[in-house]
Amino acid sequence: MNILERYHAMDYAPAPEARSEADAWLAGRDFSKSLFIAGEWRAAADEKTFDTEDPSSGKLLAKVSDASAADIETAVAAARKALPKWSAASGYERAKVLYAIGRAMQRHQRLFAVLESLDNGKPIRESRDIDVPLAIRHFIHHAGWAQSLDREFPGRKPAGVVGQIIPWNFPLLMLAWKIAPALATGCTVVLKPAEFTPLTAILFAEICERAGVPRGVVNIVQGGPEAGAAIVNHPGIDKIAFTGSSEVGKIIRKATAGSGKKLSLELGGKSAFIVFEDADLDSAVEGLVDGIWFNQGQVCCAGSRLLVQESVADAFIAKVKTRMSRLRVGAPLDKNTDIGPLVDKTQLDRVRRLVEEGAKQGAVCWQPDQDVPETGYYHLPTLATGVAPANILAQEEVFGPVLATMSFRNTEEAVELANNTRYGLAASVWSENVNLALHVAPQLKAGVVWVNGTNMFDAACGFGGYRESGFGREGGREGLEEYLASSEPHGPVIKPVSAPKAAARDNGESHAIDRTAKLFIGGKQVRPDGNYSIAVLTPKGKLVGEVGLGSRKDIRDAVSAARACKAWPEATAYNRAQVLYYLAENLSGRTEDFAARIVELTGASHKVAKAEVETSIERLFYYAGMADKFEGRVHQPPARTVTLALHEPVGVIGIVAPDEAPLLGLISLLAPALAMGNTVVLVPSTTAPLVATDLYQVIEYSDVPAGAINIVTGHTAELAAVLAKHDDVDGLWIVAEADICARAEAESTGNLKRVWTGHGRSLDWPTAQGEAFLRRATEVKNVWVPYGD
Ligand code: NAD
Repeated sequence: MNILERYHAMDYAPAPEARSEADAWLAGRDFSKSLFIAGEWRAAADEKTFDTEDPSSGKLLAKVSDASAADIETAVAAARKALPKWSAASGYERAKVLYAIGRAMQRHQRLFAVLESLDNGKPIRESRDIDVPLAIRHFIHHAGWAQSLDREFPGRKPAGVVGQIIPWNFPLLMLAWKIAPALATGCTVVLKPAEFTPLTAILFAEICERAGVPRGVVNIVQGGPEAGAAIVNHPGIDKIAFTGSSEVGKIIRKATAGSGKKLSLELGGKSAFIVFEDADLDSAVEGLVDGIWFNQGQVCCAGSRLLVQESVADAFIAKVKTRMSRLRVGAPLDKNTDIGPLVDKTQLDRVRRLVEEGAKQGAVCWQPDQDVPETGYYHLPTLATGVAPANILAQEEVFGPVLATMSFRNTEEAVELANNTRYGLAASVWSENVNLALHVAPQLKAGVVWVNGTNMFDAACGFGGYRESGFGREGGREGLEEYLASSEPHGPVIKPVSAPKAAARDNGESHAIDRTAKLFIGGKQVRPDGNYSIAVLTPKGKLVGEVGLGSRKDIRDAVSAARACKAWPEATAYNRAQVLYYLAENLSGRTEDFAARIVELTGASHKVAKAEVETSIERLFYYAGMADKFEGRVHQPPARTVTLALHEPVGVIGIVAPDEAPLLGLISLLAPALAMGNTVVLVPSTTAPLVATDLYQVIEYSDVPAGAINIVTGHTAELAAVLAKHDDVDGLWIVAEADICARAEAESTGNLKRVWTGHGRSLDWPTAQGEAFLRRATEVKNVWVPYGD
């Protein structure tokens, strides 16, 4: 055999990672007591267990304690008991514990990696080189945050006892993303791993024992959906942090509505991988392999939709097929393996079902000609071409090694296709022209955008999505916010007001209707759709005027106008500042009119009413000044990239303003939303709506683009519910009585909009100003830009 023949005959020999240490660990521990509560190992109260198996062989790995509601009760009590001392510990004390966890994990790095691959099926190269190092970095990074908290977040308190529920695709990494920021901020934790992958969490709990984590600060309870639901519904928990499917995320949103629990949801995705014709195609192919076949495609941010420019589509697909044929499907512990088994038979069945359905709907599904191991839940990497935008493979999260491919002609079409999804987690943009990539990145509705790269993560950079990919961020500064109690100054509990009397009249021609203050939609004063109005009375019951009775249809029109307004979100921050200053200036010219109106409608003294107007003007000034100062940041993760944490508007925000302080309350909510470039549909005070309708003129004189501010008067409860259900509203802020807030939270699940409510309490309006409001008006998009050759 000559050298060339030898070269062609070369094949991979198996290179298995040793598993003896993991086998010894599995054999040596008593899994019948695998709940870690109050620093002790316990059996489930009813002694139930569940099996966890090796997905490459179907063999049993361990029988693990299966927590029930009774165990969750014990775990929450332990976390509650530990909270006062842990939250009062100095940042340095907490930093030492976090660092000790990181160091202990480093010492057991290999064991963690092998256990993760055994339990989940992911290739050892991934668990060894990505999952475990990133998890360790998370703890060490957050040690620093624990110590910097007082300086960076002065006066902020921890959220309290946190219930954390995680999925099976990155068991240890998701645990780290949850536990590290919670401990850094002084929260205590009840965490439930996914039922398919409990092992590394058990090893982690052992690490906590050794690293000196005080008893009860970290509680880890194994179990399934029932245990998860018990955590979600437990009244002793202050915050729920969930990572998992959008379906369960919606259940949790509903279950926590009205409970006052803080909530973050990291859900599914259908992320676009966009290849422009000027991309380095070979690099893009390698990126794509990582984008969709990393962890067998069981990745929330998997680049599962390939959008490739028409001019290079055939060449690119040919390269992808060649590369797919070389992917090695095999045993997870073999260091040569690229593709391992899926986590479980149920997951394999689901992926097969979706591929069959996609093919029925017209997709052409191609797989490389390869054998898969005889046992285990393997699915060959699959390429679907001819995929119509409505095909199930283009719309549904498959969560498997399946790539759906579409082509586009120009940049606009690429953006449109990329955004044609109900998710909004991540996207990847490939072009050698950085100007083009950075032009496209802000237009993508996704929380993370990788330029010429994919699947890059770091503890210092926030990760999380928009729309049905959930809300909240993990990692970085934004991630810490999720574990701090809210900082708005609370006001009194809001009492229900009796609904204002309808001025029952429906003949649009009547004299009374002409006197009625109209709605303000798309920059115009318009009559309400139903032509009804409601009476506005003084506190003593005297009729002072009428306003339009807005309906579902009016809200819909207002949302359309807000959505259509591009001039405001696309205006420069300086331009927005200027308009907010005009609003302040024009309001100031009418101080006495507004003060008189407040006196008339609320019965306040002239002095109090005038002070309210003056504080409103000052507030507009403040947010005008902040419009070009509440900026994003640049992170420098330990890779050759810069990460631009850009501040973007949330989109269309619905605002339900309070009855008390009818002008200041309204301005305190409207101004930060506008400052950050959102467009607004505002439902003003029910009892003093004329304060809002008097603003129409001020708005008209202040160069506010049509559609940036829309005002619909009417019954708060009814209009809040319409806004909550509307899938084109991206954010909703409500200051109203408790049941209106709770209902809005429960009804917001359609598009998982970001909802903030006062939970039935008002705010202390004179002091209700600051970055907390701007943060709520902002999405942070992390754009990763590599540098170097
Ligand atoms: P899943 O929603 O079925 O389960 C996630 C967790 O929720 C598990 O621990 C499960 O036991 C628990 N659970 C199930 N029903 C529950 C209920 N009614 N109440 C409370 N808890 C309940 O998701 P999965 O199949 O384990 O994970 C895959 C999903 O996770 C995918 O959709 C993926 O995109 C998503 N994910 C998202 C991110 C992110 O950061 N956005 C990261 C990883 C995974």
